[in-house]
Amino acid sequence: MSNWFRRRATKLIRVGNISIGGGSPIVIQSMTNTDTHDLQSTLEQIKRLQEVGCEIVRISLPDIECAKLVRRIKESVTVPIVGDVHFDHRIAIEAIKNGVDKIRINPGNIGSEAKIREIVTVANEYGVPIRVGANSGSLPKDLTSLPRAQALAEAALREVRTLEKFGFENIVVSVKSSDVLETIEANRYIAKYIDYPLHVGVTEAGTLYNSLIKSSMAVGVLILEGLVDTLRISISGDPVNEVIAAKKLLTFLGMRKGVDVIACPTCARSVFDVEKVALEVEKILSNVEEDIKISVLGCIVNGIGEGKNADLGIAGTNDGVVLFYKGEIVGTYKLEEGLGKLKELTRTIVQEKLKNPAT
Ligand code: SF4
Repeated sequence: MSNWFRRRATKLIRVGNISIGGGSPIVIQSMTNTDTHDLQSTLEQIKRLQEVGCEIVRISLPDIECAKLVRRIKESVTVPIVGDVHFDHRIAIEAIKNGVDKIRINPGNIGSEAKIREIVTVANEYGVPIRVGANSGSLPKDLTSLPRAQALAEAALREVRTLEKFGFENIVVSVKSSDVLETIEANRYIAKYIDYPLHVGVTEAGTLYNSLIKSSMAVGVLILEGLVDTLRISISGDPVNEVIAAKKLLTFLGMRKGVDVIACPTCARSVFDVEKVALEVEKILSNVEEDIKISVLGCIVNGIGEGKNADLGIAGTNDGVVLFYKGEIVGTYKLEEGLGKLKELTRTIVQEKLKNPAT
């Protein structure tokens, strides 16, 4: 695990059985995109998210009926559930009474401070934290003359101060822009003024490629600056991709155990279909959460160095492939035999790691 940078010191906030901030590992979140009224589809999606490693799932609660469904959802899943509420404070209160683990509100659209106070009173009673924060799409008008990153942070600070005024400090904060640099700047700014954990992400980051690049830059920088306590990689489409992306981001930054399949881009020297083999290896390892590095390189130009540094490596040779296992050459093989051996050894490594994670 990386330990060369320091996490910002924050309050510890508990969301069901998950801790955010206070030095806890960075928590992965995602959000359902089903109609919450459709209980079966929503439950299926939450379970899929849970299976791939999502640690907190947010659901939209557009009305009281959905808030009441929280109880049935909570009976069927173990992952903590966050209720996303806008405009109507009664929905938030109903969700809390039905067992929601955290509420995400935008105090600016709840209406009056008296209504926010009602939410806070019930959240206090049930020990439920509240996430507040600002998105670039919903900035208060009186802040729009400020630079956008500062406006985002000031808008979120205003919301935090509103909750604090009612004695509430069980808070998680987010400042999200659809712009990479604004997201970085806004989080840097707000981190100087509060010690609540930060939920970080690029909002409306787009489809897969756009989001992966934007999120890796913004969230990656902020992780390395120690400012991220929980994250969502927002991606249009199946939210399972959000969780897979978040896990990879944390793994590649050394923040979590995980698999790294190194594969070369291929060129005229490649003696086998590197992409196909790398994808097969990734598939075998898809549910493994142990530190395993496998290198798949088309030839020996870089293949020997990478292979020796990995737990398992394969590189193309003049008449087949050479395999490495824990830094040593296992042997040279004809292509098909070598590829078979690679898969066999991949499964062996998985079994070894699962039996003894320290190896
Ligand atoms: S490792 Fe070999 S095949 Fe792969 S890109 Fe480099 S030179 Fe080409």
